[in-house]
Amino acid sequence: MTDQSQQFASDNYSGVCPEAWQAMAEANVGHQRAYGEDEWTARAADHFRQLFETDCEVFFAFNGTAANSLALASLCQSYHSVICSETAHVETDECGAPEFFSNGSKLLTASSHDGKLTPESIRAVALKRQDIHYPKPRVVTLTQASEVGTVYRPEEIRAISETCREQGLHLHMDGARFSNACAFLGCSPAELTWKAGVDVLCFGGTKNGMAVGEAILFFDRALAEDFDYRCKQAGQLASKMRFLSAPWVGLLQDGAWLRYADHANRCAQLLADLVKDIPGVRLMFPVEANGVFLQLSELAIERLRAAGWRFYTFIGAGGARFMCSWDTEEQRVRELAQAIRVAMA
Ligand SMILES: *Cc1c(COP(=O)(O)O)cnc(C)c1O
Repeated sequence: MTDQSQQFASDNYSGVCPEAWQAMAEANVGHQRAYGEDEWTARAADHFRQLFETDCEVFFAFNGTAANSLALASLCQSYHSVICSETAHVETDECGAPEFFSNGSKLLTASSHDGKLTPESIRAVALKRQDIHYPKPRVVTLTQASEVGTVYRPEEIRAISETCREQGLHLHMDGARFSNACAFLGCSPAELTWKAGVDVLCFGGTKNGMAVGEAILFFDRALAEDFDYRCKQAGQLASKMRFLSAPWVGLLQDGAWLRYADHANRCAQLLADLVKDIPGVRLMFPVEANGVFLQLSELAIERLRAAGWRFYTFIGAGGARFMCSWDTEEQRVRELAQAIRVAMA
């Protein structure tokens, strides 16, 4: 038996939450129509429309790379470009998929502060070149919560969307940890998306407690034209779609999505509180979502790894990244904090 102790390398080290699992089991009864024409898929889409208080178009994909890439491709022609932060997942962790699925739309990185773009950094890139020789900026993509665990406030998103409107840019949101952002701010999903000017949201299910799956929500329905064909061509149309959509019903119907995100956020907060007084440990970013980025000594990193702790040092901004998930145990957070204390001594 391999060691199954909880780790903090990624929130996707966790398993499936009971609500998602139960919904999968309930969907596993009898026969249902295929390719998304089933009742579960209709119910899941309705739950999203209710939760977001708007009649959005909803699609389901297997993972975040596909959701982001296809959503961005739907907003771009091949000669367009997408403005993102230099730490954005689309730039650093998707193996060129956004460029691939858009047939070449180039990602342009803008500077960010605490992992977040600003109207100024977007304008600097959007206005840098306006000649025929440069790929024309067409989309801005924000990551909510950001890759370094910070969260865009509604007024920050509104200011960015105003800049987008003024520059003729669409606004996309990579919401792999959208739930964590909602939990941190106590804002409604609508306030953080369409009410603040977001056109398309990729809502992460996997890190929120599902086995697989992301939802793509188009608040501007016109932008969703032919998106179903795009998904199919990219190999993202699940034939037994009900197993991709049912877990969403499980997560959304009684608020589990928000409870779990809140739990993960609180675990991250606890970890930050427990390590902040350790000499030599520096918190690299404000802890707002479910991640904690720590500057540790090289020796401490080696010692922690030797003691069996898994964590990344190349995601986001360097340093050591510790992610909490829907099922993180408080005791395990305390053990990690103690291990960091020992390793730094
Ligand atoms: C995890 C993650 C994704 C999705 O990644 P996949 O491995 O493709 O599911 C997208 N964006 C961010 C910011 C992520 O952390």
